[in-house]
Amino acid sequence: MSNPAKPNTERLLKQSHNNMPMGVADNYRYWGEDNTVFVKSSKGCTITDADDQTFVDFRLAYGPIILGYRDSRVDQAVIEVITERGTMSGFSTDLDSEVVELVKSMCPNIEKMRFANSGTEAVLGAVRTARGFTGRNKIVVVEGGFHGLYDEMMWKSDVDNWDSQSAQPPEIAAFGVGIPEASREHLETVPLNDFAAIDEVFTRVGHDIAAIIIEPILGNCGSIASTPEYMQTLRSMCDSNGSLLIMDEVKTGFRVAKGGVQELYGIKADLTTYAKAMGNGYAVAAFGGRADVMDIISFNAKGVTHGGTYTANMIALSAAKATLTILNETDAYGTINNAGAAIQQVLSRVFTKHGIAHKFAGPDAMFGIHFGEAVPTNYRDWKETDSALYTEFAMNLIKHGVMLEPDSREPWFICEAHKDVDLAWLEAVADQSMAEAIAA
Ligand code: PMP
Repeated sequence: MSNPAKPNTERLLKQSHNNMPMGVADNYRYWGEDNTVFVKSSKGCTITDADDQTFVDFRLAYGPIILGYRDSRVDQAVIEVITERGTMSGFSTDLDSEVVELVKSMCPNIEKMRFANSGTEAVLGAVRTARGFTGRNKIVVVEGGFHGLYDEMMWKSDVDNWDSQSAQPPEIAAFGVGIPEASREHLETVPLNDFAAIDEVFTRVGHDIAAIIIEPILGNCGSIASTPEYMQTLRSMCDSNGSLLIMDEVKTGFRVAKGGVQELYGIKADLTTYAKAMGNGYAVAAFGGRADVMDIISFNAKGVTHGGTYTANMIALSAAKATLTILNETDAYGTINNAGAAIQQVLSRVFTKHGIAHKFAGPDAMFGIHFGEAVPTNYRDWKETDSALYTEFAMNLIKHGVMLEPDSREPWFICEAHKDVDLAWLEAVADQSMAEAIAA
């Protein structure tokens, strides 16, 4: 570490190196010896680091914060449950059905649901349920999508190391070692919005496809959106082949609209996964969908097993209940979308001033920024954008007090508390950050 302005951060990172691999609790929190962030506190749309620098945060912990950090409406509900009822008992509570009914009122495609503790667990539950229901093995995934850190979902289309002039598709590579080769046996990978590719897969192995799992807007690839026609094609391919459509709305769910992307597109998934915005930063997740599909979960010999010690604990469910009630009953989405649109206008003015061709992708609550002439239509296209300039720009923003992931595959997340962002300040900081990036 060679950052004299950050003595506390330097000390904490040094200490952490003795205690955790890479000095962090999650690989993705390691941003190098000079840039790894230690957070002391958070409030609204800001976080404050160990050396008392406060940032306006557009990273929002990779998406869960939808109202704002330390939202007293949610926190009070959790405090009440902890102090009056307890955290968990390993038994059912009245909160279970209350939260499911709330979700059902917001997401009409959900008929039955089960809870989980993370997006990874929700995806695992949905995929297992789809296999159990169909009696099939294969899962189709989309390049640039991300579905969590369990073995089977830890294969990625390696666009970073792909020559875009090559006639060959990108290699499929594991996220590091320790992932058994056998875990990719039942995966098929297709590029987003590529009709021929999905047709080819169904023609070849349609009889054994249990499900397609897709982030309908690629929350892990710059908010590149599937076209409604593409989603409609997936829907009808699944219907005519007896396969299920799983929409992974871990990032988009309860963020882009009450009913997620399914509401925006008017397309129905058979199963949907949720996490992140569902609890405004408390660890809660869920998967659900068609009642006939979900009812395969049972103890009988042909049933799918699902459970977990911490599943539907009262901290998680009281947070979900409070968050979802606010999202359902107030105009939070109007506020979030207005803030997101205003922030994009500011940024667009700055990019234009500096002569940078740029496109925004995805919804206002979760938008990607791409430096180039066109909005990428899939992960391979994204490679054509100037992601290096984006990273340079982002690192400068961070230096000046705007927090975001310095990778254009991660969207800008907006929460209700961003309504108070000083747009003139943001414009000045973005202007300076871009000037520095161009000069570098
Ligand atoms: N699905 C999607 C779409 C995600 O973005 C993520 C996490 N970024 C996951 C699943 C996994 O969620 P978690 O980190 O809570 O396990």
